[in-house]
Amino acid sequence: MRVKVLVIGAGIIGAACARSLARRGVDVTVLDRGPAVGATSAAGEGNLLVSDKAPGAELTLATYSLDLWRSLAGTIAEEIGEAFASIEFDAKGGLVVATSDEESEGLTRFADAQRRAGVQARPLDVDEALALEPGLAPSITSAVYYPQDAQVQPAIAAEALLASARAAGARVMVETRVTGPRRDASGRLTGVATSRGDVVADHVVVAAGPWSGELATLLGGTLDVGPRKGCLLVTSRMPHRIAHKVYDASYVGAVQSGDRDLQVATVIESTASGTVLIGSSRQDVGFDAGLDVAVLRAIAARAVRLMPLLGGASVMRAYCGFRPFSRDHLPVIGPDRDVAGLWYATGHEGAGIGLAPGTAELVTALLLGEPTAITAEPFSSRRPSLVGTA
Ligand SMILES: Cc1cc2nc3c(=O)[nH]c(=O)nc-3n(C[C@H](O)[C@H](O)[C@H](O)COP(=O)(O)OP(=O)(O)OC[C@H]3O[C@@H](n4cnc5c(N)ncnc54)[C@H](O)[C@@H]3O)c2cc1C
Repeated sequence: MRVKVLVIGAGIIGAACARSLARRGVDVTVLDRGPAVGATSAAGEGNLLVSDKAPGAELTLATYSLDLWRSLAGTIAEEIGEAFASIEFDAKGGLVVATSDEESEGLTRFADAQRRAGVQARPLDVDEALALEPGLAPSITSAVYYPQDAQVQPAIAAEALLASARAAGARVMVETRVTGPRRDASGRLTGVATSRGDVVADHVVVAAGPWSGELATLLGGTLDVGPRKGCLLVTSRMPHRIAHKVYDASYVGAVQSGDRDLQVATVIESTASGTVLIGSSRQDVGFDAGLDVAVLRAIAARAVRLMPLLGGASVMRAYCGFRPFSRDHLPVIGPDRDVAGLWYATGHEGAGIGLAPGTAELVTALLLGEPTAITAEPFSSRRPSLVGTA
């Protein structure tokens, strides 16, 4: 089989890349060793956040992506038909809550810096925060409201992007595992070997989530992206609707941290169906998918401290996934350092749902040799913070 661009991985990143490329008329195929959207993109929350991003390249990509999500939410039904399930885009806004004076000071400093970078971040006193979210513990010390934060149902959103890619002409091959490279005499990647035969391609884009590092190695490239485990609880439907996405101020520290030990920070959000998602943990334990009751208990205990009404909730299920972790907390978007024909769209860690549309536009522009809407340089595989790490 011969194609122009082969995207490896049919998660939200691969789906978004295939959609953008196909809509530009590029001959693109996306393949996955499992079913489509069967891995990380179906195992997380669907937060589209600017609130947890410090000023810098990731915040720029998040803001760009959020604008794209907003317009996508308005057009996706036209692209794939009204009968397709809703992606549940909800521009509900985020509320970040401090629970000590020390946390309040840190949160105020962080929000001040974000405001200088153009983020809408409104400081609230305790009464104002409780008026927005009456279920919060009265013992909180302060909060910041982020009206730009939004949410989607991540698995449906990824399926919708894939459906849109198909509608624009992309092919999707599932149950097809990449097993090795195909190269020409100069060393340029000319495609891949798969469990169903060779696929010849001008360009190969690795969008394989937490497996991207091992896949890059298989194809002769250099990429330090691996798994960072995260677990969530889901309650049964609750009568009390939590109107905003609520999280504690320590979440930002956990997101930015490279610590390999267990970290738990509270993230709470109601879904369209009335269940409540309660996250989340961060742990460097390789691809160990087991549920650890002590971790789930820690997630629940923190959440109840922040929102006591959750103490009466019953947990319907719990699950874990693997965030695609990049050592310097920035995704890798663009060509491999050395291997011609090999590209990356990966390493988004806990923000891949939010960052998917912007990533896809960057990949498309770079592959077509066009100017990018935001600078792609910070996401280069050649950036100094990555060279020497793999
Ligand atoms: C608990 C948790 C909560 C999260 N919450 C959020 C959130 O609120 N907001 C947010 O933006 N992000 C969140 N994330 C992160 C987000 O889910 C990920 O960043 C995103 O899903 C990554 O998508 P992906 O397409 O890169 O990877 P994946 O969805 O994992 O897709 C990669 C695909 O590559 C395929 N693959 C791997 N190896 C091969 C091979 N050899 N051959 C063929 N195919 C292969 C896999 O089968 C898989 O389908 C969360 C993650 C977790 C775990």
